[in-house]
Amino acid sequence: MAGKSAPAIGIDLGTTYSCVAVWEHDRVEIIANDQGNRTTPSYVAFTDTERFVGDAAKNQAAINPVNTIFDSKRLIGRKYTDPSVEYDLKLWPFKEKQFAPEEISAMILTKMKEVAEAYLGLPVKNAVITVPAYFNDSQRQATRDAGAISGLNVLRIIVEPTAAAIAYGLDKELLINTGGQKNVLIFDLGGGTFDVSLLTIEKSMVDVKAVGGDTHLGGEDFDNRMVNHFVQAALRRLRSACERAKRILSSIHQTSIEIDALFEGIDFQSTITRPRFEELNMDLFRQCMEPVESCLRDAKMDKHSVQDIVLVGGSTRIPKVQQLLQDFFNGKTLCKSINPDEAVAYGAAVQAAILDGRGNQKALDIAIMDVTPLSLGFECKGKVMTVVIPRNTTIPTKKETTCTTAYDNLTHVLFLVYEGERARSTENNLLGRFTLGGIPPAPRAVPVINVCFDLDANGILNVSAEDKNTGQKSRITISFDKGRLSREEIEKMVQAAEKYKFEDEEHKKKSKNISSSLASADMKKIEDAIEDAMQWLDGNQLGETDEYEDKMKELESITERLMITKKD
Ligand code: ADP
Ligand code: MG
Repeated sequence: MAGKSAPAIGIDLGTTYSCVAVWEHDRVEIIANDQGNRTTPSYVAFTDTERFVGDAAKNQAAINPVNTIFDSKRLIGRKYTDPSVEYDLKLWPFKEKQFAPEEISAMILTKMKEVAEAYLGLPVKNAVITVPAYFNDSQRQATRDAGAISGLNVLRIIVEPTAAAIAYGLDKELLINTGGQKNVLIFDLGGGTFDVSLLTIEKSMVDVKAVGGDTHLGGEDFDNRMVNHFVQAALRRLRSACERAKRILSSIHQTSIEIDALFEGIDFQSTITRPRFEELNMDLFRQCMEPVESCLRDAKMDKHSVQDIVLVGGSTRIPKVQQLLQDFFNGKTLCKSINPDEAVAYGAAVQAAILDGRGNQKALDIAIMDVTPLSLGFECKGKVMTVVIPRNTTIPTKKETTCTTAYDNLTHVLFLVYEGERARSTENNLLGRFTLGGIPPAPRAVPVINVCFDLDANGILNVSAEDKNTGQKSRITISFDKGRLSREEIEKMVQAAEKYKFEDEEHKKKSKNISSSLASADMKKIEDAIEDAMQWLDGNQLGETDEYEDKMKELESITERLMITKKD
């Protein structure tokens, strides 16, 4: 056993609340913060002289709205021009200028680390951090970066539904010794987001089959309904009183709201019953059932084949939400023995213990699996998307393919790496580009170029191309690119692929015909353009990125990216 080092911890970095846990004495301990709370608001606030994180930040939010930051998870790893970011920006009172979302998330992670250190009495180094299942490469990488900024060694990033499944696996031995396959639905209704995931668990493997949900639906919407009920101009004091009332209504049938001097010295007092609260939110509660259905549809699964339904997220404590879900599954008993707002951190702590070498054998047997939300591939002659890693492949994964030059005497080929389901590469999302040079002149289709796509457990993609003849190699790591797609865009893309299936087939056929009729004069033009660009690059190593990109675009427009073909 290691000497004086603290065990690895598990952190659920939530949109509205975060939670930290540790594996100790053969069980998971959820660690309470300095206020005695087992979950900590994901809030950071600044005054001229101080910085607050957690409860202290949330408590002063009403008097200092412009310098109180929440929801940084909605921004992490996204571009400013992302439509979902634009939407969120409109709603926020804070003006986040000086800090990157990674830095804000790092402050929350630091707080969670300190909470653990206060409890364990030792400095904490290692952690497992959870992210939503639909987080893409750059969002996962940004979360990793946030961990590094907070001084944590991130052992692994795992997805929230899998963490919840692991949490229950230990409780009920769900994942092992069961033999056959099991389908589990994770219903995660939190503060600001709603996620449904369908997992298949076979022996000891957890596989994410489908995800769905609503990025702007959660407990805060229910709070807002109650706020509107009481007063038009929603005041923050009232909002926090309403949140408290909502929580109380999950266990008793009636509560009151009392606020001294709510407006111009006038005290406010009123009561609310559970049925009234349910009535105010009924449409939102019903709305939560739709993603459950669509998730089952996506996974082509009947609701009767779901063996377990796991409640995650603080808002699943609402009895009406539980009842609707249970009714949908014809009265099936829901898994709720672990506190729903702690289940993700619980599973992360188990995973941390496994990676730390401290977990018990039961825990060790559980492998983590995750899938690619979109196909990954590169562009071939005729703007054809050549898929290397198909959509829904379990990660980590490493896949290889061979390709060759499409014209005689090509010495350089440009690789454009895409994600997406369309046959025409330009309809997909460009992730990055790199060039393989130094190919000895040879007739077309002679060179053998090995292309390798390596997607690691953290969702970071390494693409490399190697000329088999010379051993010349070129590569790109796709992780810092902040241009990947949001879940909405992924869903749209998958739907578009269905819709344009026929057109896409036609495109594939056409591009085959065109390529065989291309004149060799065009070829000369392509070669010259590449040569010219390569020379420019050699002489402009310190050039501006803009200039470089212009040059690349120019090159692409001339060559029309017709250099690579798949080798049969
Ligand atoms: P996150 O969405 O950030 O992961 P949680 O899963 O902790 O956060 O969910 C937070 C939400 O759960 C908040 O809106 C909170 O008001 C709500 N919540 C917590 N406890 C209860 C309860 N007893 N009844 C109803 N809602 C609750
Ligand atoms: Mg959560």
